[in-house]
Amino acid sequence: MPMDPMTAQDRIGQRIRAIMARLEHLQGNNWYFYNIPVQELKGGARVRVGDKEMLMFASYSYLGLIGHPRINKAAKEAIDKYGTGTHGVRTLAGTLPVHQDLEETIAEFKNAEAAVVFSSGYVTNLSVIAALVGRGDYVFSDKLNHASIVDGCLMSGAKFVRFHHNDMDALERRLQSVPSDATKLIVADAVFSMDGDIIDLPRLVELARKYNAWVMIDEAHSVGVLGKTGRGIEEHFGLDDVIDIKMGTLSKTIPSVGGYIAGKKELVEYIRHTSRAYIFSAALPPAQAAAAAEAFRVIMDEPWRVEKLQANTQHFIQGLKERGFNTMYTETAIVPIICGEDETAFQMTAEAFKRGIFVLPVISPAVPVGLARLRATVTAAHEPEEIEYAMDVFVDAAQAVGLPLQQPVL
Ligand SMILES: *Cc1c(COP(=O)(O)O)cnc(C)c1O
Repeated sequence: MPMDPMTAQDRIGQRIRAIMARLEHLQGNNWYFYNIPVQELKGGARVRVGDKEMLMFASYSYLGLIGHPRINKAAKEAIDKYGTGTHGVRTLAGTLPVHQDLEETIAEFKNAEAAVVFSSGYVTNLSVIAALVGRGDYVFSDKLNHASIVDGCLMSGAKFVRFHHNDMDALERRLQSVPSDATKLIVADAVFSMDGDIIDLPRLVELARKYNAWVMIDEAHSVGVLGKTGRGIEEHFGLDDVIDIKMGTLSKTIPSVGGYIAGKKELVEYIRHTSRAYIFSAALPPAQAAAAAEAFRVIMDEPWRVEKLQANTQHFIQGLKERGFNTMYTETAIVPIICGEDETAFQMTAEAFKRGIFVLPVISPAVPVGLARLRATVTAAHEPEEIEYAMDVFVDAAQAVGLPLQQPVL
């Protein structure tokens, strides 16, 4: 017998109606910025949205590699050679030379012994954390870690211990609070996806050694972004191979889809034989694997991209601070522009859109109440004049919606 949808027990129906009411409220105010279709790439940082050309300030393509001719060509050639699908999972008939080439290229780029790829970054975190720790173990996770890390920790069955964001004293207290002979894994984002700040890796590694814990770092926003040649957080801090489990995605700087783990050969072999997502989910499509491998080679061949991204990042963060915006602790291409109330963030977004700037709001519960923001990103595809223009638009928008700007703290 189907349940009467109007009864109080119908919690699912109530949840659906609550979300629908919220969407109607947003749509009624023209504050609905979810899933906006981008029709076309126009080159550089320009995209077409509807009939309007806009400047993209919400892209994860940090090095401007989407549409790169070499990468497109590699993908097309892989389709001609292998078709569009795989023959199933990697362990049966799904392993192709393009997968092996990709894994070798990642290992080389990350200066690691070996690497293994998965069909998404999300699934990599989920599956690998669950393959490494389980009941009776402890996993220590920064409070602002990405949802895929949180979900992996929960799924693993290990005791889930969260520590205050990027606070190494808090991490040490947590490490001291568990039995000294327990199996421990510390996991954190390299660059935090909402705030753009960088984990204190040198101290984290010190603590891991002191308390005998393994270290896993998610470099979704670090590869191509941090370090002189874009190799990531170890290069940034001048540390050599201190991360046991180097995780990354192929969907951000690398213009493809997928996720990877790089590390010691034995670790990678262990993951190949124990990770359920690797064993039970289909291999990456050949075009995406070939595109990803070529993208790593392009980064190595075109070092100007990393340099330009880093110069643009400095320009953007400094310029916003000088204009009185609060950008929190960011040091990277992810630049929060704090608006305060959710409503202010929606209004700022609408104003930016009117002037051709594509930027998106992030509101609670994704970020704490009162810290709603525009989450702007800058890339190597931006020209300095475009960054100047965007910053001027944000100042005008702040004036239009009554967002107070501070005396610049430089
Ligand atoms: C985007 C992201 C992921 C997930 O990667 P996908 O390849 O998009 O599934 C994992 N971790 C962090 C920190 C991310 O930002």
